[in-house]
Order: sequence, then structure tokens, then C-alpha cells
Amino acid sequence: MKQVLTLSMVIAAVLGIVVYAQEKRDPVMPVAKELPKAMSKEEVSKISDAEWKKRLTPEQYAILRRSGTERSNGKVYQEFKKQGGGSYFCVGCNTELFSSKEKFDSHCGWPSFYDPADTKNVKSVMETDGSGRIEVRCATCDGHLGHVFQGEGFSTPTDKRYCINGTVLRFVPAEAVEATKKAMAAEAKKKSE
Ligand SMILES: [Zn+2]
Repeated sequence: MKQVLTLSMVIAAVLGIVVYAQEKRDPVMPVAKELPKAMSKEEVSKISDAEWKKRLTPEQYAILRRSGTERSNGKVYQEFKKQGGGSYFCVGCNTELFSSKEKFDSHCGWPSFYDPADTKNVKSVMETDGSGRIEVRCATCDGHLGHVFQGEGFSTPTDKRYCINGTVLRFVPAEAVEATKKAMAAEAKKKSE
């Protein structure tokens, strides 16, 4: 009996390590319970490359600061598909980038939106590699987010596909957005009284 118990404990530990290693390789999208505090361009400009490395996970750093790409149809994308209403923020500087209102299923294996939540928060830059692709960056921290494609024939209001790496987005569910806004309004009312 004791041997069986020990053996099952060993198996459980090994399984735990395997699952942990898997999670490490396949990152998940961070979910916040309240609206994150956005950084200003000035604050962001003071962050050195070494500091970015410390602040971000290796996967987030590789995409946001080194223009990397997450694997398609990964865990982040599977989670993204299941998420309800809410907002998506830059994992580097907490700027609001996209919202579930513009989310659509393009079947490309990466989170897709037909427009940013606020156009001024996202900038498009022509790739210099001659591919003609248009890169999408966070307008505040200049972090790489993905690419935007136009005129592919999707029946969305813009026929644009913002193909975004979910690894560099922070999701805030709609209820949490509402709760934070209410709390902020109550706080402001208290101060004015
Ligand atoms: Zn950013």
C-alpha cells in the first residue's frame, strides 16, 4: 500500500512538472481584475532595454521589444476565443488597444480585430523588409503588436484584419471595466463634496 502511495506521488509530481514546463513554453494571456493604470509616453521613454527585460516575461519581451510572433493556435488564442466582452490593453504600458466589440473570428490562429478601440493608441508602420506588410505598434511604448491586412473580403465594417499577438495583450473583462469606472466616479464625487 505504502509503495503504491509513493509511486502515485512520484507520478503526480512528474505530471506536475510536465504541465508546468508546458505552461512555461505556451504562455497565457494575463487577465486583470481592474483597469490597469496607463503609463505616459514620457514614463515609457525612461525604460531601458534591460528594464523591459525585467518587467516582461521572456515571451512578452520577444514579441513586444524584438518584433517576435507567438505560435498560431496556441493557448493564448484558445483562451481569446472563449473570452466574453471586455477590453485589451498593452502588456508593456497598459494603453487600451482593442475591445471585444471589434473582435471577429478570422480563423487565422491569432487574435483578430477589425479596428482598434481607439485609433490614436495604435500606429501602423510599413515593414522595411520589402514584404509590403504593415506592422502594428502600440502608439505609447512603440511595442510590436502584430500586422494589419486590408481587403481580404471579411464581412466586417472595415475589412481590415488586425492580426495581433495575444501574448502582449492584457484582458480586462467588461464587468471589471465597469466596476473600476464606477469606483472612480464615486471617488471623484467624494472629493468634490
Ligand atoms: Zn504599449
